[in-house]
Amino acid sequence: MLERRNVSLNLNVRGLRHSATLEVNQQVRRLRAEGRKVHNLGLGESPFPVPDPMVEALRLNASKKQYLPVEGLPELREAIAAHRKRTQGVATEAEQVLVGPGSKELLFLLQLSFYGDLIVPSPCWVSYTPQGQIVGHKVRFVGTDPGNGWKVTPDGLAALFEEDRDRYRPRLFVLNYPANPTGVAYSADELRAIGEVAREYEVLILSDEIYSGLHHAGEHVSIARYYPEGTIVLNGISKWGGAGGWRLGAFLFPPDLRWLQDAMAAVASETYTSVCTPVQYAAVRAFESGMRMERYLSHTRRILRDATGACHRILTEAGVDVVRPDGAFYLFPDFGRFRRRLARRNIRTSRALCDALLEEAGVAMLPGSDFQRPREEFTGRMSLVDFDGAKAMAKSEEVGPDKELPEDFLDLCCGDLLEAMRAVVDWLGPR
Ligand code: PLP
Repeated sequence: MLERRNVSLNLNVRGLRHSATLEVNQQVRRLRAEGRKVHNLGLGESPFPVPDPMVEALRLNASKKQYLPVEGLPELREAIAAHRKRTQGVATEAEQVLVGPGSKELLFLLQLSFYGDLIVPSPCWVSYTPQGQIVGHKVRFVGTDPGNGWKVTPDGLAALFEEDRDRYRPRLFVLNYPANPTGVAYSADELRAIGEVAREYEVLILSDEIYSGLHHAGEHVSIARYYPEGTIVLNGISKWGGAGGWRLGAFLFPPDLRWLQDAMAAVASETYTSVCTPVQYAAVRAFESGMRMERYLSHTRRILRDATGACHRILTEAGVDVVRPDGAFYLFPDFGRFRRRLARRNIRTSRALCDALLEEAGVAMLPGSDFQRPREEFTGRMSLVDFDGAKAMAKSEEVGPDKELPEDFLDLCCGDLLEAMRAVVDWLGPR
């Protein structure tokens, strides 16, 4: 037996737990195995099936078995570059694209390769800071204001940078929109202003646009339009392509950051080699778009807009503070107005709140503390994907593309979601 004194854990990974989203899933599985009815609002996974063109392409390419170039299949890099040119008007060449086994892994390679501080908003997605800690970055948070949709402001960002003695300290700032956990997106003016601050302080931006295809109005704007020289864009097929388990993501680099892209590719070549070959061929179809992909996206956006809108309404009418999302499938409610009532039940942290909601109301969600909010703030993330996406998609197709969904659509297709909201409201009781 190897003793701990001979083989031990790297200091940076001591105490690290499984990612919060994966842990809540296990809890839900356990309760369901005991026969309990549980609404799972914990997992951030698309409810919709993978679009047919992607599935067909995967089938056709299943026998392709060679390792591909570490940076990615040339046709896929081409399609991703063309997709950005088409959707954002930002000139992009295939050589600027790096394909990886999920954008999460690419983000980790970036954190490993980059030297400097990691700057993230609070709240932000669960994995940015654990990754930063694993590789030993100093992590700093930019505050946000719920009254302003939990968004970072240019002044808040500049104030944080001014706290450092060295104005031009190397920094990586991660901005995500539509955002996980809040669903909010930034306007073109807001992005332009943030880009100007980043330029002034020479800060590298990682623009996490994994939910770009799920902007409810189909109006995603990338900050790369305003700060092209310093922005790396993250994209992938996990959310808008419904294919999280296929594990394919991509980064798009500005030409001046070739050195960083090359360093990441070198690390990739010594670790995962290349991304699953048939999946790369299939992903070409996702980025090429075309009529069928566009139709798929317009249905998903319409369904998500209506479903998140209805849940937002139920919570708001019950007195819960919650920002209406612009995209994706999340809500980030704040139950702070119920503080006294919660304290009477001995609930004093967002984790205790989520534990009680799961045990007593059968609703699983993640505490705000997992998203870098203070422990005592009664926030949490609801992932509104607990419905049959294939059924909802079929019904939406029946209605046709240009009409509103009928009034009974949500009751018919997303009834469980509405039930989950009502269960939360009933559990809270009158304000
Ligand atoms: N970024 C955000 C904001 C996410 O929510 C996720 C997944 O949940 C990812 C990145 C990683 O996605 P993937 O690794 O599946 O590409």
